[in-house]
Amino acid sequence: LPEIALTQAFLDRFTGRFGVRPAEWHSGVSTRRRARVLEGVARGEVKVVAGARSALFLPFADLGLTIVDEEHDPAYKQEDGVAYHARDMAVVRARFAHAPILLASATPSIETEVNARRGRYGRLALPERFGGAKVPGLAPIDLRREGPARGRWIAPRLAEEVNETVETGGQALLFLNRRGYAPLTLCRSCGHRMRCPSCSAWLVEHRFRRRLACHHCGYQAPVPDTCPGCGAKDSLMPCGPGVERLQEEVQALFPNARSLVLSSDLTGGIERMRAEPEAVARGEVDVVIGTQLVAKGHNFPGLALVGVVDADVGLGHGDPRAAERTFQLVHQVAGRAGRGAAEGRGFIQTHMPEHPVMQALVKGDRAAFYETEIRAREEAHLPPFGRMA
Ligand SMILES: [Zn+2]
Ligand SMILES: [Zn+2]
Repeated sequence: LPEIALTQAFLDRFTGRFGVRPAEWHSGVSTRRRARVLEGVARGEVKVVAGARSALFLPFADLGLTIVDEEHDPAYKQEDGVAYHARDMAVVRARFAHAPILLASATPSIETEVNARRGRYGRLALPERFGGAKVPGLAPIDLRREGPARGRWIAPRLAEEVNETVETGGQALLFLNRRGYAPLTLCRSCGHRMRCPSCSAWLVEHRFRRRLACHHCGYQAPVPDTCPGCGAKDSLMPCGPGVERLQEEVQALFPNARSLVLSSDLTGGIERMRAEPEAVARGEVDVVIGTQLVAKGHNFPGLALVGVVDADVGLGHGDPRAAERTFQLVHQVAGRAGRGAAEGRGFIQTHMPEHPVMQALVKGDRAAFYETEIRAREEAHLPPFGRMA
């Protein structure tokens, strides 16, 4: 599993269903506990391991089945130190063990989809959503025509929907895949942009921690009082929204609603990242503001509304996987709503409702998305039809 999806709730559900408690294997497990799991796996006494990437390196005595859940998740890609893709590694490992492997996803990676179409992988389809729940339809909100006022990010129509949801006792999720307060800090006097000194990416303001951070290399610095470009005092201003800034807007729009930011860079580490979704599931929060962290595996039974604040993030920056990533994320996020009794509703704010990805999302047409994207990759000789440099 992607590390963050390894929740207590998952382990409990698994135990309830199969009568065996899986041994956990991830970075949060103590060294002593790890040693015991390792030994149990080698002896064949541990029957099931629920683990993150590194579980693939455990010395299974008799590996019978591997399941890679959310197989499209970029978290399986290990880039520090030895670079490898845990999904691909799992396929190789299963082949060596002559054991079956199941790659599970509602939005498979293009690579896996192509393998299935070519007949290299078998395909098991689950046409119905678990428990008969309905995937919410997604209505587009065209930001060119009905966008919010300058300096705001929630369109009036979406705000109205959130308000109605919260007033009738439901929960709303606003999805914005931008950590921090603002993705860019700019000088009002000279136009200087705060960039990372090592990799020249824009520095992201984290207001809560009062720092500017580079999301590429990890560089951090306090927010300066004066502009490094022209020396003007108090001239630096935030541009664009991050989840922290979005929460300010939520608090201003819905002063009585309890709001919470779910983002991977909050202090408190993995424990807090597990505790907070559980609080949401118990109904202790009215409006959740989340990054891609919320797309994963959580079950929020009270969630009735999902608003994708900026569906265009990532598109149009020349990243060949952007369309795939956007489709997967938005589809997954929308799937968070309507899991309980209430039927879910979803809205996507976009500047390009005619984009094939938005069209596929609005119509709920997965097949159309894969057709378009596979053809585009093939024509451009991009993976899996060619290699990226
Ligand atoms: Zn950097
Ligand atoms: Zn300046």
